[in-house]
Amino acid sequence: MNHETALLKAKEAADQVLAPSASQNDKEGRFSTEAVAALGQAGLLGLTVPTELGGSGLGPRTFAAVVATLAETDASVAMVYLMHVCGTATIATARPDAVVAQILQDIAAGKHLTTLAFSEAGSRSHFWAPVSRARRDTTGVLISAKKSWVTSAGVAQSYVVSTLAVEGTAPIDSTLYLVPAGCPGFSVERPWDGLGLRANASAPMLLDQCLVPYELQLTNDGAGFQAMLNVVLPIFNLGSAAVALGICRAAVAGTVSHLKNARFEHLGQSLGESLPTLRAQLAGMQIDTDGLELRIADLVDHLERPRETTMLRVLETKAAAGDTAIAVTSAAMRICGGAAFSKHTNIERLFRDAHAGAVMAPTVDVLREFIGKALLGIELF
Ligand SMILES: Cc1cc2nc3c(=O)[nH]c(=O)nc-3n(C[C@H](O)[C@H](O)[C@H](O)COP(=O)(O)OP(=O)(O)OC[C@H]3O[C@@H](n4cnc5c(N)ncnc54)[C@H](O)[C@@H]3O)c2cc1C
Repeated sequence: MNHETALLKAKEAADQVLAPSASQNDKEGRFSTEAVAALGQAGLLGLTVPTELGGSGLGPRTFAAVVATLAETDASVAMVYLMHVCGTATIATARPDAVVAQILQDIAAGKHLTTLAFSEAGSRSHFWAPVSRARRDTTGVLISAKKSWVTSAGVAQSYVVSTLAVEGTAPIDSTLYLVPAGCPGFSVERPWDGLGLRANASAPMLLDQCLVPYELQLTNDGAGFQAMLNVVLPIFNLGSAAVALGICRAAVAGTVSHLKNARFEHLGQSLGESLPTLRAQLAGMQIDTDGLELRIADLVDHLERPRETTMLRVLETKAAAGDTAIAVTSAAMRICGGAAFSKHTNIERLFRDAHAGAVMAPTVDVLREFIGKALLGIELF
């Protein structure tokens, strides 16, 4: 698979599988297992898995484009996919003693969905500082933890779980493990009922004395933080921005359609023909959407050719994307008026979905805080 075929396959899955049920899944808060199956069959679950393990070995450029394409139709599915690719990257860069080749082959074959279980009830959005701590056991570690949000909870085949290192001393001395679904003591605490991204099962999960064998320890003791920062953060922030871009594109398309089709019969004109103020607001939405697309392209370039400003771009892009998605979908809500408010269009789903990006960690506020500190030369952690 190359960049072009990956995009074609993503568009095919979006049109044939995601589009027909996105609205109903949102209403019912139903996770789309058929969407995941379609992504698996299309080879997209293994998009970034190294070719020697059966994957396509593609990079950030294709990943971002695929995520944006999926998000344009169903942001919930795009977020499931994004978390899967973040988890896959963590597994693929596991320490040499980890026994994960079969799992990566299963991912490449489209038979395995993974995700991240970082956020904890105790440290909230500060995912880099888990409060749970692993305890050493004869064959591995025992983990007890309250994971506050886990996308694809109860549906994924495995979970990349963070916890304080057995002998860690600082709040960021974490270790990452791969916990298979069905591990005794691992359960979904309660069903997901969010404002937005309602169809992605981002439920809280409990680990109660889960025994994780040594072979599934993904990082060295205490090296979880570095993996979060160097492996997960760039992909998550890029993917999160791509989800925002997909949402913005869909909001522009939905608004254009409404402005063309809704009419003032007494004036003999469509809304778009009649009201320059709406045209001006629509133009603003398009400008913001194209600006976000350029930011994403710039971040992709920085990830492909890392340089001094790369981490700054990683932080900036998600912060900007979160704000842009909220601004663009808010404008769409306003422009489409009562029709949007009364759910006659898909705009209100996009508006709700757009708000998740800003509160998903690292949140927009935390990113601003990090950027400000970095500019002033203040330690981030
Ligand atoms: C749809 C969805 C899916 C999710 N999926 C996953 C997942 O798969 N895996 C996972 O690990 N987590 C996931 N999360 C959790 C997410 O990443 C955040 O941890 C969570 O949304 C934080 O919410 P909170 O109420 O705990 O935030 P809080 O930490 O209570 O933050 C409250 C407010 O304070 C602000 N704030 C906090 N710290 C600072 C600071 N230092 N400086 C400035 N402002 C600050 C925040 O920006 C926010 O506005 C998901 C969340 C959502 C909504």
